[in-house]
Amino acid sequence: MKNPKESQHSSVSTKTISISHNTEEISYDNLLKWNKEWVEETLKEDANFFKKLAKGQSPPILWIGCADSRVPANQITGTNPGDIFVHRNIANMVIHTDMNMLSVLDYAVAVLQVKHVIVCGHYGCGGVLAAMSNKQYGLIDNWLRHIKDVYRTYAFELDMLDDEVERGKRLVELNAIENVYNLCKTSTIQNAWKQGQELSVHGWAYSLDSGIIKDLGVSFNSDEKLGSMFKFETK
Ligand code: ZN
Repeated sequence: MKNPKESQHSSVSTKTISISHNTEEISYDNLLKWNKEWVEETLKEDANFFKKLAKGQSPPILWIGCADSRVPANQITGTNPGDIFVHRNIANMVIHTDMNMLSVLDYAVAVLQVKHVIVCGHYGCGGVLAAMSNKQYGLIDNWLRHIKDVYRTYAFELDMLDDEVERGKRLVELNAIENVYNLCKTSTIQNAWKQGQELSVHGWAYSLDSGIIKDLGVSFNSDEKLGSMFKFETK
């Protein structure tokens, strides 16, 4: 995968977001105080940081990740504001009736012309684990139903895993993989490929335990391997 900093979409700064304030209370007032401190620190590193960012964005990456607070796209990839266009929802889902996700995807691909779309799941995902159980959690159960469908698709493989933790980890991976497939089935991605746009989709799984990202080996840059039923004709 091409390093975004080597692409035409260049980063506005080499400064990465640091881990800070983790010994102080996360309060409403502190957020505003820390914001001012962050602005000061950032300007010390690069006096034109905000001026450059304000001119516009040209991120090379679209990130579709989980809403989980422990999986922030920029920090875990060592990138900066302006580098990644982000969509997050519970369990990093790509649902073809989700107007929010589709709008983000279409804008990122057709207008921003991102080069990579990454679906990033994470081990220990509460949404995936909830979908594996039979408990009711409320409205979210309807959203998580999509993950039960992923389980049904891979039930043979998953049911062979006796260890529930291992089964949950594999379902996290399979859910990210299925959502990569879901991306390939969208007209947005297919039209970009038909127009010869340089665009790849990828599936990742992030480990909360180690901070390491695993590439799930499901990268596509054409509809070559897509089932014929899902291939749209050219308009
Ligand atoms: Zn999650």
